[in-house]
Amino acid sequence: MEKIPKFKYLPDRALNSLVNGLLREYKVCGTIEKDGFPAFGEVSAADELKLTQSPTHLSAKGFLFPQREVLLRFDMRTSAHVPVIEAERQVLFGLHPCDIRALALMDRIFAHGVPDPNYLFRREHTIVIGADCMPDEYCFCESLGTDDVDEGFDLFLHRTGGGYLVRVGSERGSALLEKYARTREPGKAALKELDAANERRRLAFRAKLDAAPEELPAIYAKSDESRVWERIGAICTGCGSCNNVCPTCYCFDVKDEVGASLAEGERVRTWDGCTLEDFAKVAGGHNFRKTRAERLRHRFNRKFRYLSDTFDSLFCVGCGRCSRSCLVKINIADVTNELIRENAGA
Ligand code: SF4
Ligand code: SF4
Repeated sequence: MEKIPKFKYLPDRALNSLVNGLLREYKVCGTIEKDGFPAFGEVSAADELKLTQSPTHLSAKGFLFPQREVLLRFDMRTSAHVPVIEAERQVLFGLHPCDIRALALMDRIFAHGVPDPNYLFRREHTIVIGADCMPDEYCFCESLGTDDVDEGFDLFLHRTGGGYLVRVGSERGSALLEKYARTREPGKAALKELDAANERRRLAFRAKLDAAPEELPAIYAKSDESRVWERIGAICTGCGSCNNVCPTCYCFDVKDEVGASLAEGERVRTWDGCTLEDFAKVAGGHNFRKTRAERLRHRFNRKFRYLSDTFDSLFCVGCGRCSRSCLVKINIADVTNELIRENAGA
């Protein structure tokens, strides 16, 4: 029998009291409006939070895996080194289903092998509140089955007229709701409205993949020699935006920065990206992926092929951010469909 989600009804004014309550105890990072666009940022008052249904250009990745972070401080005079593992209690507010799926993948990556204490400590201190969304022309999560979630959040809000239907995903979420907001049982009209909204959303997907997700690793495995790579490599500027905006790109570089005393310093990690020219450059100047075509092929394979052996999952959640932010309009769904067609032809 299909599991029926249990909802609470949260009127608009109760959402404000929830946010205000959270602001007293946590750093709240949520969907805001920046230069007229939906963005993700720190919220200091309830009215700054704009629970948008449009995808944000950047994901919330930076609040768990900052673009630059200090890993340890050292003193070369004494050989002392002190790890820096810090976390503020925070709430990520307004994550869409694909972003919650991406978070689950990041959790697996950073716990795999040698667990990453910095990410995991921050994650432990993070509450996730999801919100529903409406796809634009770049979203293709529906084709990957990442358009909905039933776990990975503490609360999840569905917009209905005058309020929200709230799904409770954890005891922590239930306690927050009880502490900060007055909810009531939802009426039949609100539940009906949710069904209609879900149907509108389903019909709104324009970008689609022409193969099932489980077929993609094999299709990519047969596409190393495709002419697609040369064609998109010729227009790619190697800017790295696609890596930066992607909620599942997690590569980083680590450097020691020594202060003016030449004795004390910090070990710092910063985001890196496989589309950047120096990413695969090693000592002696050899570059394992010299061309932009090779670098793009590598990036796409990381999303649809290489990691699936270890994690039994694709590493793209179909958020469309890389396509949305690419100045030369390289679109990951279109490229994948081109490879699907080539393979069907072969
Ligand atoms: S955003 Fe576009 S141009 Fe920039 S590296 Fe990625 S694919 Fe190339
Ligand atoms: S590869 Fe592109 S579409 Fe896939 S998760 Fe990353 S940014 Fe989103």
